[in-house]
Amino acid sequence: MKTRAPARSRRAVTPLWEEAVRVLVGGVNSPVRGFRHVGGEPILARSARGATLTSTAGRTYVDFIMGWGALLWGHQPPAIQRALRAAGQRLVLAGLTHPAEIELARLITQALPAIEQVRFTVSGTEACMTAIRLARAVTNRPRLLVFAGSYHGHSDVLLAGQTAGIPAALAQHVIPVPYNDLAAAQRAVDQHGKELAAILLEPVAANTGVIPPAPGFLPGLRALATRSGALLIFDEVVTGFRLALGGAQAHFGVTADLTVFGKIIGGGLPIGAVGGPRTLMQRLAPLGDVYHGGTFAGHPLSMAAGVAALRPLFTAPPYARLERRTAQLVAALAAAARSAGVPVQINRAGSMFTVFFSPRPVQQARDAQESRREQFARWAQALYAQGILVPPSPFEALFVSPAHTESQLRQFAAAAARAFQDVRPA
Ligand SMILES: *Cc1c(COP(=O)(O)O)cnc(C)c1O
Repeated sequence: MKTRAPARSRRAVTPLWEEAVRVLVGGVNSPVRGFRHVGGEPILARSARGATLTSTAGRTYVDFIMGWGALLWGHQPPAIQRALRAAGQRLVLAGLTHPAEIELARLITQALPAIEQVRFTVSGTEACMTAIRLARAVTNRPRLLVFAGSYHGHSDVLLAGQTAGIPAALAQHVIPVPYNDLAAAQRAVDQHGKELAAILLEPVAANTGVIPPAPGFLPGLRALATRSGALLIFDEVVTGFRLALGGAQAHFGVTADLTVFGKIIGGGLPIGAVGGPRTLMQRLAPLGDVYHGGTFAGHPLSMAAGVAALRPLFTAPPYARLERRTAQLVAALAAAARSAGVPVQINRAGSMFTVFFSPRPVQQARDAQESRREQFARWAQALYAQGILVPPSPFEALFVSPAHTESQLRQFAAAAARAFQDVRPA
C-alpha cells in the first residue's frame, strides 16, 4: 500500500480556518486579512481590550493594526462601550434623522471650521464616491487627478485599471501621477486642467505604507486646484482626527474644498462622511441634484460611537502624548535595525508609521514597492511569534493608541530588535 508523503510544505491548518476558507472567499471579507504578504495561516480575532487582542488560538498580542486605524482609542474603550449600550437600547434604526447624527456633524464642523455641513455614509468608499460625484457636478468636468498607490475605497472609478471587472473606458477619467511629485501634477493640470473636476489625495499617504507629504507638496496642489478650477479633495479617512483635531489640514495648514472621513469618526463602527462649505454641500439631494442616500447612512449606533470617540478630543486631546510616544518607539526601532545591520526607512506622521525594508527614502508608491517584501514577511512572522501584531502587509501603517502602555511599547521595541536580528542578511 502506498503511503502518502508527508506534505512538508503544508502547515497545520486549524479547523476554524479550514471552515473559513470553505464558506468565505479566501477565508476573508477583505483581501489583506488573508495574510498573503507574510504567508502562514492568518491570525483570527476572538476578543480584544485596550491594546491587547486575543486570537481564536488563545494567543494574546499587542495590537498595532488597531482596526486599520479606525480605533483611535484602542479596543473597547469604556466611554464608547457605554455609548453603544445606551444607543442600542434607545434606537437601533429608524431611517429618520436622529439627535446623534446632528451631534456628530456638529463636532466635525467644530473641529474643522472650513466644513459647514456634513453628509454621512456607511463607509469611506461611499464617502469618496460621493465626494467625486459632487465635485464633478459642481465643476461640470469629468476627470480626476489622483496619486499612484493611494487608496480611496473600492468604487469603480477609483479602482479603474487596478482590478478586473471595470470597463476600460472609466480609466480615461482618472489621471494618476506619482505622490510627492508636484511637477508631474503641474504637467497633468497643464494638460487636462479644463477637464479636471478634482485633485483627490490622502494628505499623508497611508495605503502605500506611511508617506508624508514633502514640504510644499500640499500647498502646491492647493494652488494648482484653485488656479485650474478643480476642487481639492482630501481623503482624511485615516488622517482625520488622528494627526490633529483638525486632521491633516490643521496639521499642515492647507484647507481642502471637500474632506472625506471614515474609520476614526465611527468609533469602531461602519461610517464615512463628506464635509465642506454649504455652497458645495447644497448640491447634494434633497437640496440639489446630486444623489446620495442610504438605508444605514447615519446609523444610530455608528453615530453614538462616533460622538463618544470624538468628544474627548476637544477636552483632553491625546495628540501630544501620542506624538511623543510614537516618536520614542520609532527611534528605538530605528536603533535596533541599525545595530542589526538591516537597512530600513521608518516613515512616520504622528501616531502612524511604517517600517520599509529599504536602503533608500520612500517618497512615493514605487519606492515602497521596491522595498524588500520577503524581509518584511520574516520580520512580521518573528513579531507574531513574540506576541506583537503588525499589519500582515509591507504597505500598511502601524497605529499607536493611548491604550498602548509604555511597557507594551517597550515590549514591541525589544521584540522588534530580536526580529531584526532574525532577518539580517547572512
Ligand atoms: C479605508 C480607507 C478608505 C475606504 O474606507 P472603507 O470604510 O474601508 O470603505 C478610503 N480612503 C482611505 C484613505 C482609507 O484608508
